[in-house]
Amino acid sequence: MSVGSLLAFTSLLQHLVSPFTGMAHQVGGLQRSLAAAERIWEVFDVPRECEGEARPRRAGHSLCFRNISLSYDGSRKAISNLSCTIPAGAVVALVGPSGAGKSTLFHLILRFYEPTSGRILIDDTPIHQFPVRDLRQLISYVPQETHLFSGTIRENLRYGRPSASDSDIVSAAKDANIHDFIASLPNGYGTEIGERGLRLSGGQRQRISIARAILKDAPILLLDEATSALDSETELLIQDALDKLMKHRTTIVIAHRLSTVRNADAIFVMDNGHMVEQGTHYELIQQKGLYSHLYRLQFREETVTVLERDPNVEII
Ligand code: ATP
Repeated sequence: MSVGSLLAFTSLLQHLVSPFTGMAHQVGGLQRSLAAAERIWEVFDVPRECEGEARPRRAGHSLCFRNISLSYDGSRKAISNLSCTIPAGAVVALVGPSGAGKSTLFHLILRFYEPTSGRILIDDTPIHQFPVRDLRQLISYVPQETHLFSGTIRENLRYGRPSASDSDIVSAAKDANIHDFIASLPNGYGTEIGERGLRLSGGQRQRISIARAILKDAPILLLDEATSALDSETELLIQDALDKLMKHRTTIVIAHRLSTVRNADAIFVMDNGHMVEQGTHYELIQQKGLYSHLYRLQFREETVTVLERDPNVEII
């Protein structure tokens, strides 16, 4: 065979082989798509949450837990026969070691899960009697980690109340102490954030989350305080925004800050799915139980900082 023929042969051979390798790739891609499609169908197959018929009353919302138990896996109880009442307009701080069931309580109020037994009532009406949409309209949930979507700051804020006008958004941002920061950006409220855009700090994200809750203006507030350490100026801005947000609402806050537990109307202490102590900061400190132990462990550093700032402050 001449050199020319050999070259022609190898080049033609490559033309023959590449469609076959392409086909193998297509088969791989098809299999990946089928696996993804299966997961999409799983979502479509999730049964619709059962709807109730009661209409929530707007004035004064108390929350009452009656003998609530929940097991995620059918064996171990995450919440065990828990009963407590939160009066309308009160601020209750939930405290307890990791895994005590604090977030689970929020999941139950929002009806992400149904209790295995017992009932939760809002103003004497069991929550399963509300249409889920109406129930969630009553509640603002401020999670520890703020989720930001790709889009502008304005769109991310409007997520709190889709019908909000631009001036409502600015007013909520001012109350959440984030307006000045947004106004300082070249594109202001039109700045792109989220996955593709501007990265925001932990404190800024928290204030966006607070502004969303202010916009939503729901009478019940579930707040999971962020644990991330913030500088003292940001801490003050967030505390001020939270104070405005909690006003005139029934609030349950998973507390990680000293100021929150000290200012709460009542502190509920959870351990291993049980409500083990209830009372004010001073009452619980005097009981010398789990709260006083946690207080010393969890808030000791903060206490020392406060003492350094103001030696006259009274700390038990
Ligand atoms: P932390 O302070 O660490 O957030 P927590 O007090 O909020 O803890 P929960 O998150 O309510 O505790 O968890 C209570 C128990 O339920 C834990 O044992 C946890 O492992 C379990 N649990 C929580 N969520 C789920 C879930 N989706 N599926 C199964 N088990 C879960």
